[in-house]
Amino acid sequence: MPIATVDPATGETVEKFAPHDEVELERRIAMAHAAAAELGGTPFARRAEWMTSAADLLEADLDGAAAMLVTEMGKPIGQAEAEVRKCARTMRFYAEHAEEFLAEEPLRAPAAVGARRASTVYRPLGVVLAVMPWNYPLWQVIRFAAPALMAGNTGLLKHASNVPRAALYLDTLFERGGFPCGSFTTLLIAAAQVDAVVRDPRVRAVTLTGSEPAGRAVAAAAGASIKKTVLELGGSDPFLVMPTADVAAAAATAVRARVQNNGQSCVAAKRFIVHTEVYDEFAELFTRGMAELVVGDPRDRRTDVGPLATESGRRDVAELVDDAVAKGAEVLTGGSVPAGPGFFYPPTVLAGLTPEMRIVQEETFGPVASLYRATDRDDALRIANQTDFGLSSAVWTGDDDEADWFAERLEAGAVFVNGMTASYPELPFGGMKVSGYGRELSAAGIREFCNLTTIWRG
Ligand code: NDP
Repeated sequence: MPIATVDPATGETVEKFAPHDEVELERRIAMAHAAAAELGGTPFARRAEWMTSAADLLEADLDGAAAMLVTEMGKPIGQAEAEVRKCARTMRFYAEHAEEFLAEEPLRAPAAVGARRASTVYRPLGVVLAVMPWNYPLWQVIRFAAPALMAGNTGLLKHASNVPRAALYLDTLFERGGFPCGSFTTLLIAAAQVDAVVRDPRVRAVTLTGSEPAGRAVAAAAGASIKKTVLELGGSDPFLVMPTADVAAAAATAVRARVQNNGQSCVAAKRFIVHTEVYDEFAELFTRGMAELVVGDPRDRRTDVGPLATESGRRDVAELVDDAVAKGAEVLTGGSVPAGPGFFYPPTVLAGLTPEMRIVQEETFGPVASLYRATDRDDALRIANQTDFGLSSAVWTGDDDEADWFAERLEAGAVFVNGMTASYPELPFGGMKVSGYGRELSAAGIREFCNLTTIWRG
């Protein structure tokens, strides 16, 4: 894939970028390695000052940064601004809390063998490579970088080839905030070059957010050189609606949960599993909500849903829908590629899905919802778990015991009750099954890229 900015609203190439050559790549890795020794030795208070000042710079750039996101991947302008603000908030959150998350923890010392004291401390690992996707070009990176840099690690970024402006913006942001040169460095390279970077002895660990094939490739290279990985891959999250739920509120939230970021979010609700007693009511409200969304120019504040980020992404979505329709699925709204420029796809609701349809098993990375009718609670759970993915989930019910019942049984990294899944700086984020492993954010996330050192004092 060429490294280029292509405006998804028009399909026009805005700017092309030459990849870094071997000499420049080596210089950048060496810089990150040298900075790791320096950053690891700085006190938390110093890093916090730099992180806060980088957050201030990002917020001061709000308009330009948001416009950059719209141009590169087509999200509606209001959502782009929200992404920038969330990044700044998260940077401040880790500036404030990293030291507490990584504080020394006293342990019960094994006195029988003469120990006076035992404890654990969290030390930085060094250089961490981040392979990141285009769907939240700033947020996906910041949710790794803010905790990782606060822990004293340095970061190398291999960003998706279609968001080079965001990649280069991030290349300088932390240094502008005061971090030592090399603390966070972008590598403009192709996916095929990632393997060698993973295997470079100066790189200590890897985090990847993206597709399952990319996750497998990177984890295999990291495994071959015994390096830790955190993988945040796709999802096909269930959104369950039970008879005691506030059905109108569930339907309104379901629309947002499906089409956020033009439907291209790993934690978007994708499969709507509704108890038969409230299925018809939910289906009508939800379909109406999806049909009423305004699709169009992401720069227009009235737009709810912009284009998909790439032409190939739209083709993938259209193929999944066409396959389901050819095998008998019912289209309640949307379902076909519109004429005209740009990579637009309409909000779509499908019902009557059967196991041989690809959409039942595969992730739909666009504004397409699958509706399932469940006969009872057990059936709803069965449908929810009948996927290889296990990222997040949502359950709508007025019964707390029922919410607990689902929370114990849903195969997912998170369960949101009477709400929609979102990531928050305070909460751990990540999945199970082919959605990946490890956690980002919170104390669990910041500790992923630390060496947990046990200290025994005799
Ligand atoms: P990819 O997984 O291909 O891209 C994500 C990142 O991984 C990019 O930086 C990409 O680089 C890199 N990459 C891709 N293949 C490899 C590889 N073999 N080794 C090392 N790095 C690699 O996602 P796509 O953009 O192609 O999207 C495809 C599907 O992935 C989507 O339809 C969706 O299902 C899922 N996805 C999930 C996301 C999530 O948030 N979990 C985000 C994006 C996609 P390059 O751009 O140069 O190829």
